[in-house]
Amino acid sequence: MSGISQPGQSGAEKVIDGKAFAAGLRERVARAVSTVSGAQGFMGGFTPGLAVVLVGEDPASQVYVRNKGKQTQETGMRSIEHKLDARTDQDTLLTLIADLNADDDVDGILVQLPLPKQIDAQSVLDAIDPAKDVDGFHVINAGRLATGGAALVPCTPLGCLLLLQDRLGDLSGKHAVVVGRSNIVGKPMAQLLLGANATVTIAHSRTADLPAMCRQADILIAAVGRPEMVRGDWIKPGAVVIDVGINRVPAPEQGEGKTRLVGDVAFDEALAVAGAITPVPGGVGPMTIACLLRNTVEAACRRRGVAVPEM
Ligand code: NDP
Repeated sequence: MSGISQPGQSGAEKVIDGKAFAAGLRERVARAVSTVSGAQGFMGGFTPGLAVVLVGEDPASQVYVRNKGKQTQETGMRSIEHKLDARTDQDTLLTLIADLNADDDVDGILVQLPLPKQIDAQSVLDAIDPAKDVDGFHVINAGRLATGGAALVPCTPLGCLLLLQDRLGDLSGKHAVVVGRSNIVGKPMAQLLLGANATVTIAHSRTADLPAMCRQADILIAAVGRPEMVRGDWIKPGAVVIDVGINRVPAPEQGEGKTRLVGDVAFDEALAVAGAITPVPGGVGPMTIACLLRNTVEAACRRRGVAVPEM
């Protein structure tokens, strides 16, 4: 449970296995689904349903949507997919969102980003019923998170928080530095850490002397989108490092035209200094869909006024 480097701690022990943690979370979600759906004698049982909307044929988005659908079904929930042509206009998409909002069998609505240029993404996200906003991107959920209300929380930062709490336990009094201030990752991450009583600094592209800022962190979150930007000598010895970045870079050593995924942190350098660190891939990435499934069960229970099972 301690993120502080212990003498003799091996590199392997320092690596936070997000894949394994996400698998455990999915099992807990499946148990919760089984409880609420009546398989364990629950009165008035229901099976949560997640609607995923994909506009266009972006290959990465298609993979994400396929994985979301598969994992939704594996946890015993209903998966509803809507695939729309890349030329779909905003009004057509808003009509679909209105239909999904009104459909009592739909508990969660996720619109896969990015959307084509002709569509204003924030208008679409804000058209989703906040009670079904399992991505947590609606301005109402962002506001509730910021004011300490019962919000549906964006999945990637929620996944980071769960990994941190698993490794460190109580985050009270720790200094967390979040590098990145996007609405999707950086800002909600900072709010979650504040809610967990960490002292939070948000850094971004205009931060003066970013390495010195990072060196102050007991918890360092990198959500930047710049391959291996955070170097080993930016990290305080023993700090816990959460690497949100997913960057595809050329890998000529693996053959012509090959690529590989790296995070925002120079992993090998950081591993030598940090108390714990998430790898890329296999760290934060798998947590995102697992938290989406958790949010779907939570939304389904809250809409029906049912207590949310432990997950
Ligand atoms: P954005 O591009 O929306 O935000 C990037 C942030 O990083 C901005 O706040 C920007 O600052 C800051 N930044 C950029 N360059 C620098 C720099 N040189 N120094 C300091 N700060 C800098 O990205 P996202 O938040 O959407 O995503 C961040 C990363 O996380 C990406 O690699 C993305 O692929 C990954 N990601 C991973 C997910 C997962 O499931 N694991 C899910 C979502 C994202 P400023 O505001 O000043 O421009």
